[in-house]
Amino acid sequence: MSWEKELMSRRTALTGESAQTATEALRASMLALSTAELPRLRTLLRKQIRPAPYDLDFDRAPTVRSALLPEAAAQPQIDLEAELLEAISRAVNHLHTHPDGSLTRPAAVIQSVTPLTDRLQLHVNPIAVAPLLYEAMPFEFEEALSGIVGLRARPLRRSTELFLVDAPYARVELVGVGRADWRAAQAYRSVRNDEAETGRFLAETTPNELSPTERQYLNSYCRAFGPVRIASGLLRRIAVFGKALWIRTWSTGCTHFNIDWPGEIPYRPHISQLLADPLFGIPGAEIGAAPDLKFRNATATCGHGDLCTTHHLRFRSSGPAPKTAETDLSRAFKAAARPEWDAWHRELARH
Ligand SMILES: [Zn+2]
Repeated sequence: MSWEKELMSRRTALTGESAQTATEALRASMLALSTAELPRLRTLLRKQIRPAPYDLDFDRAPTVRSALLPEAAAQPQIDLEAELLEAISRAVNHLHTHPDGSLTRPAAVIQSVTPLTDRLQLHVNPIAVAPLLYEAMPFEFEEALSGIVGLRARPLRRSTELFLVDAPYARVELVGVGRADWRAAQAYRSVRNDEAETGRFLAETTPNELSPTERQYLNSYCRAFGPVRIASGLLRRIAVFGKALWIRTWSTGCTHFNIDWPGEIPYRPHISQLLADPLFGIPGAEIGAAPDLKFRNATATCGHGDLCTTHHLRFRSSGPAPKTAETDLSRAFKAAARPEWDAWHRELARH
């Protein structure tokens, strides 16, 4: 395999991009590397052919790494991505209530991701657009906020951009999501929120500024909790879980991030190796109590200082993969969710 192809296949295993998209992105970012760095990259790559042991030239690593698979740099961007991963995790529950959904079928919210230094592009599973927007966009009901604080949306030509209204450079592009998808998602939300008629959908009521409740919230708390760099790094490599039936993520305290999926596929030690890859993995990852990953010298954003400078990524299992598609409980949930899926479908069919 040529070294360019090797790079491409290692990137697409994590991002789920097409070969063409990944090759174009890699070429563009490698042009930005100095001529001295290119031969180094080839040498590094030859050294890094799996299996380990890895032997990385740490001084050179940051620029080469960011050319191969860029990380989010600015804190608001990192926080946005961490919060979005939580919204994705919650959206999975909606997919299980879709008329065609079942516990034995894959429920992927994100199909592929293109990580860029200044933003992130997501290809959302078409069926998951309404659930994702439902979970991500802030909604205010009797002073309680749900969704991502400060998140707003603007339509682009062939996509929808989600951005933080108080930090507009933090943004995520939902590729291929147009106005019709947005309207169908609104129909889904308004039927699902039937009981919350007095609630406020902030993208509509205060599209260009924080609402007073949001401002108050951000004065008292931070937007995203937990080891947010791990969450953002994970979202930028989310397709590594492409073969999982579904995923669920949550953080425990300020130092531990957990991801759970049912059954043995994908194989946890393999995922752990891919995410600890010194060229394409999450920066700073090392295999700790296998298969979990540990990140030493992490930036503590919590104010506990030295107590919180080692972070952990834990691969959990909620048990074996289900064998039966339906239980009484899942049937009941599906019946209850039928009206919002019908509303979504009706709205989409109008266009
Ligand atoms: Zn802490």
